[in-house]
Amino acid sequence: LRVGVPKETWSGEKRVALVPSSAELLTKLGWNIRIEQNAAAESKFRDRDYELAGAEIVSRESAFDSDVVLKVRHPIPEEVPLFKNGSTLVSYFYPTKNHDLIKELAIKKMNVFAMDCMPRISRAQVFDALSSMSNVAGYRAVIEAANHYPRFLAGQITAAGKSPPAKVFVIGGGVAGLAAIAQAKNMGAIVRAFDTRAAVKEQVESLGAQFLTVSIKEEGSTFGGYSKEMSKEFIEEEMELFSKQLKDVDIVISTALIPGKLAPKLILKEHIKNMKPGSVVVDLAAEAGGNIETTRVGEIYTYNDVVHIGLTDLPSKLPSQSSSLYSNNISKFLLTIGSDKQFWINLEDEVIRGSIILKSGVLLWPPPSPPQL
Ligand code: NAD
Repeated sequence: LRVGVPKETWSGEKRVALVPSSAELLTKLGWNIRIEQNAAAESKFRDRDYELAGAEIVSRESAFDSDVVLKVRHPIPEEVPLFKNGSTLVSYFYPTKNHDLIKELAIKKMNVFAMDCMPRISRAQVFDALSSMSNVAGYRAVIEAANHYPRFLAGQITAAGKSPPAKVFVIGGGVAGLAAIAQAKNMGAIVRAFDTRAAVKEQVESLGAQFLTVSIKEEGSTFGGYSKEMSKEFIEEEMELFSKQLKDVDIVISTALIPGKLAPKLILKEHIKNMKPGSVVVDLAAEAGGNIETTRVGEIYTYNDVVHIGLTDLPSKLPSQSSSLYSNNISKFLLTIGSDKQFWINLEDEVIRGSIILKSGVLLWPPPSPPQL
């Protein structure tokens, strides 16, 4: 089967869906890999490396004119006519936001799989691009914060004097939060964290950070380990805790999200006003509405001497790393839905059923809800 990899065209998108090492894995298994010329220029992989991996460098039209197209972002309207009828697309898709795109690809009788809809079960971890990208975002959030913080992160004692380590507070200990904790610890900061799910305490402590708690007892985890909306009383107590912490810490990295809902608003303008001048806040929930009242989506700006980072493209700021991880996710997924000669779309498989949007143009999304225990 012919697998095409076009260059990404979204503004600011520097990732590529397949890197040379994954291309090599697939070509060795007999797949015919076709990469658009210069598709990976911004993620720093060369056309020559793809050729050495057994892939072919082709035009944009030829990359789309393939049996399978692998992408990072979902197609833009101008790309739709380029797909072959009956072909397969695997990319981020966000089906709730893309009804028109679904209709257009259905007319072309396509199969569509959404990398953002992979069930978050143990067996699907290898395909879990949301986790891979959250990991990169958590790491990069600390790097961005350090870049804007006017002091060292690690403490120092030199002839010129003593500098205390920076205090970093991480809100939300999911994949991004844990990556941020690990990175801030690696850079020598004192790290504290808070999450509504009790299971996170052990993970935070195993990274050498302090887990903060509130006195009210309420579990933030639902069926399957996902987070839920907390009661008004819990949020009030949590915000009280944050209000005290913000007077003391230098950097806040906020990652609190609830699947399918707007991000909880946990830090208000009045809390920011109490922070020390030169502090930095990074709102990784910016795209979902933000955890911090003063965040501006996609921007870096200063309010009340506190630098606010509301960037939403952090994975694309590490394009080689992000592409390598995404490529590993997508190529392993490809191997579960086909071989070099044919496709098998097994709808009995929970991972396939969860991630499929269209099968030969027939809408299969959303998948049936899993049985509640
Ligand atoms: P997420 O990005 O949806 O949310 C980030 C964190 O915010 C979560 O830990 C959540 O508990 C926390 N949060 C929500 N409301 C909060 C509040 N009011 N205050 C403080 N924190 C709040 O999370 P994620 O990284 O996608 O991971 C969520 C869960 O899914 C975790 O249990 C994780 O272990 C699990 N997971 C499983 C797999 C897998 O098995 N394939 C993969 C990834 C994640």
